[in-house]
Amino acid sequence: MRNFDKSQEAYNEAVDLMPGGVNSPVRAFQSVGMSPIFMEQGKGSKITDIDGNEYIDYVLSWGPLILGHADDRVVSSLKEATEKGTSFGTPTILENKLAELVMERVPSVEMLRMVNSGTEATMSALRIARGYTGRNKILKFEGNYHGHSDSLLIKAGSGVATLGLPDSPGVPESIVKNTLTVPYNDVESVRYAFSEYGDDIAAVIAEPVSGNMGVVPPQENFLQELRKITEENGSLLIFDEVMTGFRVGYNCAQGYFGVTPDMTCLGKVIGGGLPVGAYGGKREIIEKVAPTGSIYQAGTLSGNPLAMTAGYQTLSALDESSYEDINQKVDKLVEGYKQASIDYDIPLHVNRAGSMVGFFFTDKPVIDYETAQNANVDYFAQYYRAMIEEGIFLPPSQFEGVFLSTAHTDEDIDKTIQAVRTAFSKIEK
Ligand code: PMP
Repeated sequence: MRNFDKSQEAYNEAVDLMPGGVNSPVRAFQSVGMSPIFMEQGKGSKITDIDGNEYIDYVLSWGPLILGHADDRVVSSLKEATEKGTSFGTPTILENKLAELVMERVPSVEMLRMVNSGTEATMSALRIARGYTGRNKILKFEGNYHGHSDSLLIKAGSGVATLGLPDSPGVPESIVKNTLTVPYNDVESVRYAFSEYGDDIAAVIAEPVSGNMGVVPPQENFLQELRKITEENGSLLIFDEVMTGFRVGYNCAQGYFGVTPDMTCLGKVIGGGLPVGAYGGKREIIEKVAPTGSIYQAGTLSGNPLAMTAGYQTLSALDESSYEDINQKVDKLVEGYKQASIDYDIPLHVNRAGSMVGFFFTDKPVIDYETAQNANVDYFAQYYRAMIEEGIFLPPSQFEGVFLSTAHTDEDIDKTIQAVRTAFSKIEK
């Protein structure tokens, strides 16, 4: 049995310092019946906790670390950048370099603005959509998570779904009434919302592959229909690619599915493990932001030199073959899970888009938030705890996907499959 004494001690201290002892709710491990594990260091695909337990890491800081932990290229360029000064509050060439790289790869982005998190990116994108169109409402999908700004914290996924929380207190009614929500993959409901409120819908915001109710890919033509409906109604289409960006594929989800939105929100991978977000899109829209336009959005540390450096090094290290490489490992992992589910008679549904993959403990298809609820969270919790014992660190929730990096090896995958088999064999039905 692994020993977690030091983590437990640190947690006992932390609960008096921070709500739940954590700075972000899903880190609390509540839904899997454990205390949080405190990590100390990571290298490549491995992560080590403060009790010295090592794990193969499939959390990767919830997505950003596509090159794995402490990648040598990222670390050495960060050392160099740190020596030069950590923040200036003036433009730097690093911002141009990362912006150019993002624009080369993301079809919809003709101009962009860097911010510090995914939440800031989506919150700002909504303001710009409203300012640009002069409309009030936005339409989002149940179980999609776009960060914790007021307008978007309605029927949200991620920690809200994991903890089974209602819509958050503190979001004013006046804001709630301007957020319309419909089921993911449900084009008819989108059409209905537009038939009722079309003139006042500034934007539809969607995760082009849902990653916050577990992984739920768009059904055929769903994204194409969103593009069509928004165009017909003079509404903007915003893809929240905070999770999918540079994860689903080299040209993000919009390249992978061939649908170009008006605006795109980014985060996670573009910061390479440092706090970065960005929003971008058509030049005529983004130019409306101050100082060229009158829609205000700002940030003391936006475009921070260290964050730009980590992002630039991370994106520079990726090419199309990096994704093929990760995809092959995901293929192998999926095969292993499927075989284990047959051998140990555990219901399992696998959803996947490119290297984004999620495993649900159900034998029914998962296409939206409601069907995601069919997953057996008790099986998940048992499996989760067994995987920790086997040295595999997964997101502590049935409603999150697993992430792989270029640093994961075939040996890691083999060990993981072996661990899955052990975990499945122990699930008490
Ligand atoms: N959008 C999506 C799709 C996300 O997955 C997340 C975070 N998981 C966010 C927005 C919010 O990003 P952040 O946590 O950096 O604020």
